[in-house]
Amino acid sequence: LPVVAIVGRPNCGKSTIFNRIVGERVSIVEDTPGVTRDRIYSNAEWLGKEFRLIDTGGIEIGDAPFLQQIKEQAEIAIEEADVIVFVTNVRDGVTIEDETVAKMLYKSNKEIILAVNKVDDISFKNDIYEFYSLGIGEPIAISSTHGIGFGDLLDEVVNRFPEKPDIVYDEDVVKFCLIGRPNVGKSSLTNAILGEERVIVSDIAGTTRDAIDTKFKKDDDEFVVIDTAGMRKKGKVYEKTEKYSVLRALKAIDRADIAIIVLNAEEGIIEYDKRIVGYAHEAGKAIIICVNKWDIIEKDNKTMKEWQERIRSHFKFIEYAPIVFLSALTKRRVNSLFEPLKLAFNNYTRRVKTHVLNDVISDALAMNPTPTHEGGKLRVYYTTQVSVKPPTFVLFVNNPKFMHFSYERYLENQIRKSFDFEGTPIKLIARARD
Ligand code: GDP
Repeated sequence: LPVVAIVGRPNCGKSTIFNRIVGERVSIVEDTPGVTRDRIYSNAEWLGKEFRLIDTGGIEIGDAPFLQQIKEQAEIAIEEADVIVFVTNVRDGVTIEDETVAKMLYKSNKEIILAVNKVDDISFKNDIYEFYSLGIGEPIAISSTHGIGFGDLLDEVVNRFPEKPDIVYDEDVVKFCLIGRPNVGKSSLTNAILGEERVIVSDIAGTTRDAIDTKFKKDDDEFVVIDTAGMRKKGKVYEKTEKYSVLRALKAIDRADIAIIVLNAEEGIIEYDKRIVGYAHEAGKAIIICVNKWDIIEKDNKTMKEWQERIRSHFKFIEYAPIVFLSALTKRRVNSLFEPLKLAFNNYTRRVKTHVLNDVISDALAMNPTPTHEGGKLRVYYTTQVSVKPPTFVLFVNNPKFMHFSYERYLENQIRKSFDFEGTPIKLIARARD
């Protein structure tokens, strides 16, 4: 997805603009702890074009001084975004901070759009001309509180999206990424995975500016490890900013088939891990849970089982994900990642035969009749798998409203019992038969 970042100094209206563009489509899906709840990143859409929106104002950078904060937020935007919306406001006119940010943006070669906010009524209209002096081109007058000018602004935003599509790999190449907090060992594990015995086909730089994909062969299978952008490029201040690392993880997840969530055996599971996994699940990606630094832990014969139970209770919504324990440092069990990777990929791309699927659904319906719900009783006429990555099933029914989520979950479980979908989410869609 194209990334659009909003920058500008505090109080110029960034978060109001963010909320207006995102609208109320920030969804909370049942008990999945999704990143979608975060008001700093959200997916948005204009004229059928989807993009990811970031409010850089929400990324706090320690207790750096005011101007330093703004500069670093602008730097993040320059690094991450395809299009930057630079927000100023007509009430304050052009400020020194605006000029500083403008200079940074100007040099960046990014697509920059200048928005002048708080143009609440026509009497301010002429005041926007002074903003030409920022050297960023034509200012667009908006009022975030009144919702004025957003059509023009968003037209301009989607106009500037890059043409070039992302690199495309063959369908049977297993693309995976490693996600997790800073210092859990993602880089070490990447290096361990790419250990000597693997044939590295190529480092594919510049796929998305700062990502480096590495394609390699193991036995007869081809894999691409998608670098959680910048993972190998360390040392910047904001690298350690958790909210910032979330964004990088999301980009990697979007491009991957399988997300390996790396946990640190020393530190256990925290909210960050849940949110990032929640996102991978919602995005319909296969998931593997990997507990790294297993060498450090004092173990007895119950330790692994206890960890498994703890992980399952934290990640109830991904019961399908295999769990692997290893050490990137000693390389112990690093090879044991390949079995679940292949398994998850096979299942992620699995197609089941329509007649077998319909037998499974008929049996499920017979075993546990559909309840009456919202004034009607669900009838399922026919089921078919419409796609893979992830496996997606359409159930033709009398009325989709009669499909209660608990019944849907029951059907999903029946499908999982009959076919191997370990490692992958599956999607069920109820559709009215015409
Ligand atoms: P990243 O930020 O997730 O990429 O983490 P790094 O790969 O940079 O690792 C952070 C630190 O943890 C480094 O000092 C590594 O040497 C150390 N580390 C990584 N994996 C392991 C492991 O399996 N065991 C131990 N003991 N240390 C590890």
